[in-house]
Amino acid sequence: MKSNAGSTVNIMNKLLELKGITLDFYSRKRLFRSQALRAVDDVSLELGVGETLGIVGQSGCGKTTLGRVSLRLLKPSAGAILFNGEDISQTPEAGLKTLRRRMQGIFQDPFASIDPFMNVYEILEEPLIIHGLGSNSQRREMIDKVLEEVKLRPTGEFLPKYTHMLSGGQRQRLAIARALILEPQYILADEPVSMIDASNRAEILYLFKELQKRRRMGYLYITHDIATARYFCHRIAVMYLGKIVELGPTLNLLRNPRHPYTRALINAVPSPDPANRFHQRQVIPGEPPSPIGAPAGCRFHPRCPDIVLGKCDIQPPPTLAVEKGHITACHLYS
Ligand code: SF4
Repeated sequence: MKSNAGSTVNIMNKLLELKGITLDFYSRKRLFRSQALRAVDDVSLELGVGETLGIVGQSGCGKTTLGRVSLRLLKPSAGAILFNGEDISQTPEAGLKTLRRRMQGIFQDPFASIDPFMNVYEILEEPLIIHGLGSNSQRREMIDKVLEEVKLRPTGEFLPKYTHMLSGGQRQRLAIARALILEPQYILADEPVSMIDASNRAEILYLFKELQKRRRMGYLYITHDIATARYFCHRIAVMYLGKIVELGPTLNLLRNPRHPYTRALINAVPSPDPANRFHQRQVIPGEPPSPIGAPAGCRFHPRCPDIVLGKCDIQPPPTLAVEKGHITACHLYS
């Protein structure tokens, strides 16, 4: 199956919209004094039906927090989450149960919070029981079908197994099956292949793509790895210190990155071509600052090789379109 880079999806069919999402955490420094950590700052995104949108950035940039907000596992401090056009940002917990059937998450270590004494059958049956779906025999059929779909076969051999008896790749297939069994429209995939080896990684991403083709699901793919995002995503958004700094169709963004941070991320990827092995890779100087008291003006300015003094360190850059569907927040284009 070919890469998603270069192919497009009509995002007029919006599945998920994040509008001006902000999320503050408060850390208690001293009694009666608390400091805000702005993990996500005024982020707006849209995800189309059948589309994969990648959120790429270094650890601590807010991408996982944004993903959790999209599933309403965290309530935003400001902004709206529209799912199939309905604002779910303030939906009370009791009302979220039905919604959670349609929105599922797959995480880096999906079984960290699951009882290790549950076998594959029980792990897959649990969400069906919680949502009151099917009789015993119908549930058995649904479980067999979903195991077939994720290629854990022969299914009968897997049913009595415990998660510690499965390889990393098989565990991730089981996590996908557990999400699929509720027939979601939207899946948050948060670093789903970062803990498995390279050969399994490609197979799992291939499986995600196959399932998307068949079921028309929308994926928000969260990763620090721009190489897998290139293969898997129709569009990529680059995040730095709580903000989206660039967003565009995968090929446009990777071939013609506009924001200095995106350029640095791309240049930091090792070349697979042995002839380029000794080329000097551009390394971004310094570490991202803390989101508590983030730098004034452009947040990237203390590390930016292109900084325009007197502007970048004072004014936050506006977000502008540099070409159709491709936006960036950088003073170089304003
Ligand atoms: Fe660099 Fe200025 Fe652009 Fe920020 S706004 S990325 S500091 S050039």
